[in-house]
Amino acid sequence: MKSLYIKFFVITIGIMFISSIFAFLISNTYYQQKLKPYNDHKITRFAESIAAFADEHPTINLNDYLDNISSVGYQIYLVDGRGDESFFGAPFRDKGLSVSTQEHVLNGNIYHGILQFPHKTFVTGFFANELKNTIGVPLTHDGKKYALFIRPDLKLLFNEMHLLFGWMLALTIILSIVMVIFSTKYLVKPISKLTKATKSLSKGEFNVNLDITRHDELGELSQNFLNMARKLEQMDEMRKEFISNISHDIQSPLSNIKGYTNLMGKESIKQEERVHYVSIINGEIRRLSTLTKQLLLLASLDRNDDILKKKAFNVGQQIHELVKNYQWRINEKGIMLSHSLPDTEIIGDPSLLNTVWDNLLANAIKYNKPDGSIDISIEEKGESIFVTIEDTGIGLTNSEIDRIFDRFYRADTARTRTIEGTGLGLSIVWTIVNLHGGHVHVNSKGKEGTAFTIELPIK
Ligand code: ADP
Repeated sequence: MKSLYIKFFVITIGIMFISSIFAFLISNTYYQQKLKPYNDHKITRFAESIAAFADEHPTINLNDYLDNISSVGYQIYLVDGRGDESFFGAPFRDKGLSVSTQEHVLNGNIYHGILQFPHKTFVTGFFANELKNTIGVPLTHDGKKYALFIRPDLKLLFNEMHLLFGWMLALTIILSIVMVIFSTKYLVKPISKLTKATKSLSKGEFNVNLDITRHDELGELSQNFLNMARKLEQMDEMRKEFISNISHDIQSPLSNIKGYTNLMGKESIKQEERVHYVSIINGEIRRLSTLTKQLLLLASLDRNDDILKKKAFNVGQQIHELVKNYQWRINEKGIMLSHSLPDTEIIGDPSLLNTVWDNLLANAIKYNKPDGSIDISIEEKGESIFVTIEDTGIGLTNSEIDRIFDRFYRADTARTRTIEGTGLGLSIVWTIVNLHGGHVHVNSKGKEGTAFTIELPIK
């Protein structure tokens, strides 16, 4: 956490530093390309107007006149043909100027020292207080020839502004640093909170709390983290419940088997009692066998998505076969079964889908009323088929419907207690139908019965 904080701080200050260098280079280039010629031109015109005024007014005192001009912010150098020179305004830092340049101007030419001032990367020519960095114009006053060199006195022009800008710059830098320190803290804080939460999650404490209410990426991250923690908690609960359910479902038939084998070991029991106990023991073994088969199937369905061995087959025929196999149980319960099973071909895993119809039909028989009825139908609509298995059984409430696909869930134990079952059948149905990209619809009219409709894509 500390290192992230420092990194962020150093990077931000680094960016500020680098960008100020870039800003300087860019503005310097701008000065060299655009401002320098403009400046040169402007000062040249000013110098020419001074020369023209001096020429037109031979009676004025030239020194006073130039003194006045320098006082409003110019540095001036005046030289005549005999080498008599005078300076007005602030002194030049570097007074070097070749004699040939002076003669050049005295001969009536203009000297563009500002435009010709050499390019230097880190020195803006504008600020160089040198005699070379001036504009030179010829000046005639009272019949005498001079060369006048002039440049703006930046110190005088910028003196007060200078201080203001200096303070502004210093304040900007100090304020930026202080703000970077605080904003970095603000940015990094949720990360350290998340780290803490991750640690407690890895210790198995799912009930983490994160008071991060931000609406940015970090807020989203912590919201997702909380969702993940809740999901993990739910999964952990489910795992615990699953294990306790399995243990119970294995333990109770085993203890029944143990009890009845003990009874059978007694010499005094009668033959018909023995037959009865054997049938109970067989029933318990059947229950255990069904349970392990269903668990194995669910485990393999959970493990891989490409478990489906799809091919084209006739669902109508498949359900027809199944109904035939169940005929004796249907008759035994006195149930009326009607069906409309047209030949319908779909692409799917025949063996797994057979398990779906098997579970639904077995439930429709198990949870039916005596002398009830079952209706099975297949309907094709668009790209899907709808297989409906409707019974006149005990029905389901809405809250039960919400849970029947949960593993080990058995609705209303008082009613179902007498009916054999594991609570895994419908979760298997749901998983298989989902793997096929289909849906399970449940429709129950209270105590009138239930209709399960399986919607499956044809292809
Ligand atoms: P079980 O092995 O208990 O039948 P299932 O997963 O197949 O497990 O069904 C879960 C529960 O849903 C059952 O215990 C039962 O309470 C309810 N149920 C399933 N099918 C029907 C039905 N056709 N009519 C009424 N209740 C049903």
